[in-house]
Amino acid sequence: MPLLADDRAEHLEKVKAYLNTYLLPHEINKAEGLIHEILDLKEEKNAVILGHNYMTPDVFYGVSDYVGDSLGLSRHAATTDASIILFNGVHFMAETAKILNPEKKVLIADLKAGCSLAEAITAEEVRELKQKYPGRPVVTYINCTAAVKAECDVVCTSANAVKVVNSLDSDEVIMIPDGYLAGNVQKETQKKIYAWAGKCMVHELFSATDVKIARKQFKDVTVISHPECKPEVTKEADFSGSTSQMADFLGKAKTNKVVLLTECSMGSNLAKDFPQIEFVSTCQTCPHMKKITLNKVRDTLKFEQFEVDVDEDVRAKAKVALDRMLEIK
Ligand code: 13P
Ligand code: SF4
Repeated sequence: MPLLADDRAEHLEKVKAYLNTYLLPHEINKAEGLIHEILDLKEEKNAVILGHNYMTPDVFYGVSDYVGDSLGLSRHAATTDASIILFNGVHFMAETAKILNPEKKVLIADLKAGCSLAEAITAEEVRELKQKYPGRPVVTYINCTAAVKAECDVVCTSANAVKVVNSLDSDEVIMIPDGYLAGNVQKETQKKIYAWAGKCMVHELFSATDVKIARKQFKDVTVISHPECKPEVTKEADFSGSTSQMADFLGKAKTNKVVLLTECSMGSNLAKDFPQIEFVSTCQTCPHMKKITLNKVRDTLKFEQFEVDVDEDVRAKAKVALDRMLEIK
């Protein structure tokens, strides 16, 4: 989804009006200065700034050309003509942009912005799995390293995992690294899934009991979960989908009270577009996503530092698995 308005002053007025709901005046002044600097640098360097839905509102609304979920941002990264891609998200997302754009400079504001799922499996472990279950295609969740993608047949995201699994010409598939996502897909496919037991450190914290308590406490509440939550949690929820699918769902739902079982900033960012909805907080933050701040974004662009690179052999193999996913509409 494109965000930045053509007119800088108009853009900043809108951003400030929103930041006003959760930042102190002196923090807004500081953010405004940084946003100006970042937008100047962006123009000067012909950079595009992509922002994941879990960025804090100052980064999300202040400086992103495009915001979205992993699928939407990958699709955008595949088509951009900017010279520099600054990815405000976590490392595997920036790496994905680099796999799709080897000739471009891809930057991330903190190289340590990782992901518990990307750490859950190595390329060597994927090779062992393929030996254990020969002949089964391997579907990897996009939350993994380039080296892992290079060992797999096709990538999926939380937005298209069922579609990707069902597209495969095999009754049995291997699915890595998220065991809960695999469990959620298993509920919606006839195919047998051999899953790896990786977990998202944020979404694994939600329980089915949280949902039951919320329903008792708040009458007529709508519960939305991410497919990285345990299957027993998504079963209790009213809707489960990728971060962008959550926004789409709310655009159509008739509800004024929502419990979001996902990363904390998602609620802050949705609150701007859905002022009529009360978001009941169950805030869990992703320490990796929260490493990306306006200060670091400014320095990253200014000094063109923290470049994300991928070995060419690995990149070419990983791109095959990514392209297969991007071809699935
Ligand atoms: P989405 O693709 O749904 O935005 O999810 C990415 C992610 O890391 C969620 O924890
Ligand atoms: Fe990874 Fe979970 Fe953070 Fe998403 S929220 S980046 S899956 S650790």
